[in-house]
Amino acid sequence: MPSPLQPFLEPSRPQPASETLTWLFTPAGQLLLASPSAQQLSLLSDPYAIIVPNWLQQVVERALATDRPSLEQAPQVENLRVALVTEVVHIPLTLELQWLADTDSGSTLLLVTGSCQDLNQSLLSDWQQLQFLEAQRLSHKVSYWSWNREQANQFFAAPQVYVLLGQDSNQPLTLETFLQSCRGSLDDLQSAATSLGNQRSHWIGDFQVHTAQGDRWLECHCLLHHDSEGQLISIVGNLKDITEEHHILSLIQDSEARFQAVLENNPNGILILDEQGEVLYANSTAEQLFGKSHRELKGKYLGFPLSFNITIHLDLVQSDRSLRHVDVSIVPIPWKQSKAYLALLTDVTNLYQTQQRLQLLQEATEKSPVSIVITNREGSIEYVNQAFESITGYSAQEVIGQNPRILQSGLMPLGFYQNLWATITAGKIWRGEFHNRRKNGELFWERTSISPVKDLAGQIVHFVAVKEDVTEQKRNRELLDHQANYDGLTDLPNRTLALDRLRQAIALSERSNDAVVVMLLDLDRFKNVNDTLGHSYGDRLLQAVAQRLRYSLPREMTISRLGGDEFLIICPSVEEGIHIEKLSQKLLQVISQPIVIEAEELVITASIGVACYPNDGSTPEVLMRNADTAMYSAKRNGGNDFQLFMPTMNAAAHERIQLETHLRHALEQYQLKVFYQPIINLEDGRVVGLEALSRWHDPQLGNITPDRFIPIAEETGLIVPLGYRVIEQACQDVAKWQQQYGQPLWVAVNLSPRQLRSSRFVQTTLKILNRYDFRPDALKLEVTEQMLMDDTASATQMLYTLHEQGIQLALDDFGTGYSALSYLRRYPFQSLKVDKSFLSDLPDSAESCALVKTIVAMAHGLGMQAIAEGVETEEHVQFLKEIGCEYAQGFFFSRPLPAAEIEPFLAQSIGSIS
Ligand code: C2E
Ligand code: MG
Ligand code: MG
Repeated sequence: MPSPLQPFLEPSRPQPASETLTWLFTPAGQLLLASPSAQQLSLLSDPYAIIVPNWLQQVVERALATDRPSLEQAPQVENLRVALVTEVVHIPLTLELQWLADTDSGSTLLLVTGSCQDLNQSLLSDWQQLQFLEAQRLSHKVSYWSWNREQANQFFAAPQVYVLLGQDSNQPLTLETFLQSCRGSLDDLQSAATSLGNQRSHWIGDFQVHTAQGDRWLECHCLLHHDSEGQLISIVGNLKDITEEHHILSLIQDSEARFQAVLENNPNGILILDEQGEVLYANSTAEQLFGKSHRELKGKYLGFPLSFNITIHLDLVQSDRSLRHVDVSIVPIPWKQSKAYLALLTDVTNLYQTQQRLQLLQEATEKSPVSIVITNREGSIEYVNQAFESITGYSAQEVIGQNPRILQSGLMPLGFYQNLWATITAGKIWRGEFHNRRKNGELFWERTSISPVKDLAGQIVHFVAVKEDVTEQKRNRELLDHQANYDGLTDLPNRTLALDRLRQAIALSERSNDAVVVMLLDLDRFKNVNDTLGHSYGDRLLQAVAQRLRYSLPREMTISRLGGDEFLIICPSVEEGIHIEKLSQKLLQVISQPIVIEAEELVITASIGVACYPNDGSTPEVLMRNADTAMYSAKRNGGNDFQLFMPTMNAAAHERIQLETHLRHALEQYQLKVFYQPIINLEDGRVVGLEALSRWHDPQLGNITPDRFIPIAEETGLIVPLGYRVIEQACQDVAKWQQQYGQPLWVAVNLSPRQLRSSRFVQTTLKILNRYDFRPDALKLEVTEQMLMDDTASATQMLYTLHEQGIQLALDDFGTGYSALSYLRRYPFQSLKVDKSFLSDLPDSAESCALVKTIVAMAHGLGMQAIAEGVETEEHVQFLKEIGCEYAQGFFFSRPLPAAEIEPFLAQSIGSIS
């Protein structure tokens, strides 16, 4: 059967005069079938699709709307023909409409048949000709094919089909070869053809063919028609080269896949939300962030505000209880032909943490108690913290852009800043201290560390200075240094500093061969000042002495207070010619000038010991020790004196130390004994009393006289226990003898100044008396003039207390000291002992005779009894009797004897009298 398209496909051939066209429509207006020529006519307007042209559609719709008969009526209207004339692309066309009853589908079908004139006729206008030629050109591309079982399996394929399939058009295709050439890709067409059965249907599929021109994608669009038994009767198909579209489609698919990959692998969470805010899509990052699968999230309403370009912040708690900080930005997007929103979830946890850290750092920097300054490479200030503002007084505004040199005080040494700059520009850290000036002009010290800050390329971009105000610290340190080296009371160098200076002076002298003189100065009887006038007075006195020393000695000499009332004077590099004796004399004289403190005038004296480097020692320790020895020697001379050190002093000092050690031991071991020397009533020769005198026999050193050990006992304080021991022993022994002989025997015990200063002396003495039931008036305490010279108010008070208790007091060794009559009046003495030195010249020295006579007369005049000591001869006794002296003691009567030996003496003396 010739193709209905023949006239178009092969325009060169003679064309038939007219064409019959057939279309079949369902009651819904859907095209069921179009004859090839009808299709061809449609293709004129749309050559690539089997569609109903507009003009035909309108005709059909009108007919269906108005004239449509029922199924039953259809056969009757079979002959109803409607003649319509229309024009298609200016080709006059006559249409006839006919109703058909289709029992298969149970509906009334509309058959449209038409005829048109020969298309080639010369009646066509030029424009029509042109249109026609265009139609021909287009039709040439039509890839129409058809097959009809009823017409002997006729298979027709337009030339374009051969072109598309890459087949030779000289070898006509059958349905089988056509399908084969489609490489079996149309298998499913075949199966569709069999399975669709009793239906008319479209089938669309695409497949790939390999041609000499290359691979090509084709789309096959066909209409299958089955008979009532379901057998395929005919197929009308069309091939379409969709290589380009396929290519575009694959590009789109690729793009889609890429888009999907981008979505899926996006490090940001992506959610697509519908207009209600419910999740349409969630990528894997979003799944992770919410801890939910895509399925769980889908359809969920997450409460995001849906508006244009909005960003919100979310804190999402993770399964491990950690917190993720997420920024969500929402934008509206088109999504599958409708409106949707894209929510982009950016995990800013790290950023947030970094920000937090940065904030913390900034806070720390801002609130740091040390000042922080950041400058650029050129040194212009870019940042200062609050501490900087409060320390310097400059506000940040005032200094930003300025150079830190605004703080310079001009007090830093030359080259200081060059050195600093050279260090930091070399990329190193500089550390040091600035002496800077605050805005208010005040100077202050800053301990500073300046570090260069480099960029990634290693270039210095900033300098960071961290500065601490150490003014107070420095001041405190200086104060501490001062406190460590200076005496708090006098502000003179203390022992530590003095020793250091002495060391330095010695080191210097080693080179210069000059001498160094060390003078140790100790105030005489300073303790008395403290005891009587109080410690604050004592302190004032020490300050006054320090001041006098400072004013009277040259600057280069170090004057130091070693402690208590002890001062050290170091004369460094003493050249020959400097007269140490004169200097010492001067000092003694300066100090002994009366001092007025709190309206109280006082005279204080000092003792000075001098030692010289190198003669008297080569180390500070030896020099100090020797000066000390010399000073003690001066003290022993009665004070207000100076002594240059002599090596013999050391021997004496050594002996003293040895004695002291032995004395302690002797006291512990009760080696000290009490001897008694009788005191005789010159009138009747009776023993009226005994003087208790200490005796010491050391197993190693032999007999040691009181003259040697009593001063040591006084210096060391051992005299106090020793004194009690003597009183106790004396009371014990004498009480016994009093009982034994029934005589009122008294006992004289020597007192040392130290004992008088002991506050418990009276109390302890009374206790002892009590213990032996000893009458207080039988105890006579002997006090020397020296003791009264060191008088203190408390000692005077004590003497009166003793007197009130009935204890007798005697002034011993009268005539050796100042022999001031005022003492005799001031104190409650009952007896006066004439010193033995006066007796030795008696009776030959008229002068001594007169003296003794006067003393005795004076004693009597003051209501005291006189006791002469050192009575050695008969002449002495005679003389004393003549001048009316009451009592006497001396070798003439008896030497001091141990208790055991005195007893027979007493027995004899008392016995002989009685
Ligand atoms: P003193 O209290 O003046 O004692 C008299 C000293 O003269 C004694 O010396 C005694 O032995 C000595 N003497 C007595 N008769 C004669 C004499 O006819 N010719 C000579 N040349 N000397 C005579 P002694 O015992 O050596 O004591 C010396 C000093 O030591 C005492 O002088 C006294 O001040 C002190 N003393 C002795 N024992 C004690 C004591 O227990 N306590 C205290 N505080 N001082 C004591
Ligand atoms: Mg005595
Ligand atoms: Mg005496």
